[in-house]
Amino acid sequence: MIKICKFGGSSVASASQFRRVKEIVEADPERRFIVVSAVGKRDSSDNKITDLLLLANAHVTYHVDSAQLLDAIKARFVEIADDLGIAWPVAEKFDTFAADISKHSPEYVVSRGEWFTAHILAEYLGLPFVDAADVMIFHHNGTVDLERTAVRLKEAVQRKGAFVLPGFYGVTVDGSIKLFQRGGGDITGAILARCLDAGLYENWTDVSGFLSADPRIIENPRSIRRITFDEMRELSYMGASVLQEEAIFPVREANIPIQIKNTNRPDDVGTIIRETADSDVDEHLITGIAGKRDFLAVHIQKAHMSNEVGIVRRTLSIFERYGISIEHIPTGVDSFGVVVNGSDVKDSIYQIISDIRKEIAPDNVTVVDKLALVTVVGRNMSKRSGTSGKIFGALGEAGINIRLITQSSQEISIIVGVDNADFERAIEVIYDRFVSNEMVSHL
Ligand code: ASP
Repeated sequence: MIKICKFGGSSVASASQFRRVKEIVEADPERRFIVVSAVGKRDSSDNKITDLLLLANAHVTYHVDSAQLLDAIKARFVEIADDLGIAWPVAEKFDTFAADISKHSPEYVVSRGEWFTAHILAEYLGLPFVDAADVMIFHHNGTVDLERTAVRLKEAVQRKGAFVLPGFYGVTVDGSIKLFQRGGGDITGAILARCLDAGLYENWTDVSGFLSADPRIIENPRSIRRITFDEMRELSYMGASVLQEEAIFPVREANIPIQIKNTNRPDDVGTIIRETADSDVDEHLITGIAGKRDFLAVHIQKAHMSNEVGIVRRTLSIFERYGISIEHIPTGVDSFGVVVNGSDVKDSIYQIISDIRKEIAPDNVTVVDKLALVTVVGRNMSKRSGTSGKIFGALGEAGINIRLITQSSQEISIIVGVDNADFERAIEVIYDRFVSNEMVSHL
């Protein structure tokens, strides 16, 4: 089986992290295709090389001396390379790059973070280096040309058998370097997995996968062993993010599972993300809970609305006119709500309400702001009846007022709106009832 291993910045933040990476790669002969991010933070007060390169660009643009900054970047690479006994002339290569920095495009400059890191890692692992500029090809419109990229990558496999590939960048048709979004090393890994028809995409990071709740709210939350792509989208959208979202699509389409693993605790199982998880053993009712504060809901009520064709469309088109994207539309028989991000409408809400009054002629329009949404995600919820009732009951018993209820169409998530002030408490109550005491609740 072909396994793609992507190591994030924290996995290569120091020479000792490189040693861990080597142990991981050497522990499994199927780990032959390695994608790496730029050297990252050693601790929370440290800097990522990518951030420093972005800063160096800004210095160049504004004609501020960048020598000190470039020295700091060079020192990080040289320190690691010296410690690992790398023969490749890192300092010399860096000096050449730095001397010409103003001649390069900003994207080229930033991409050097992964380029240097991948060179060092390739030599350290004893594997060939393949430049993303030779294999990761972008269309004119900025999306990746999967066909041409697959051809180039397969050629590289033929020629080299195994390799280290820098993440985060590729090349456009006219030959210039193009970056993915921030965190885009995950995307490179996903594209490589897709193009080589990998059996598994291992994503090595500094956490042991997805947690079932935010550890800042729940102490030591249960980690999620298996999750479906749909469930992950729901949780990531509401703030529980481990993986660059765009990284999901290439592997999802090809039905390649992603395994999130912890470089610092390689024996932890991590989280497996795949299309379906039906035959799994750990059939938890709830996979995870996530949420965000500061939404706003506009509730519209009108008698016999259910017979009025087009009323929802007309209301939504008012929001569209103001360029506001809609988060949810909870509906009743003669009422419905439109939930949006509070910050998106802070300047336009009065105008929007006035337009709704004029164009929709509702009996009543009310606005609820400072609303937090808590999403309870679980592929198994649809199989067991009464889950939503239990969630609402638990919140009610805790004295938490539910302002809004909505459910995703595939029934994999239930979303409750509560006051911002009740946000953390709502998550605690749901976690307690359904995750901590899951065994008890099933007896
Ligand atoms: N180095 C890039 C960043 O910091 C890409 C990545 O880490 O995946 O965003």
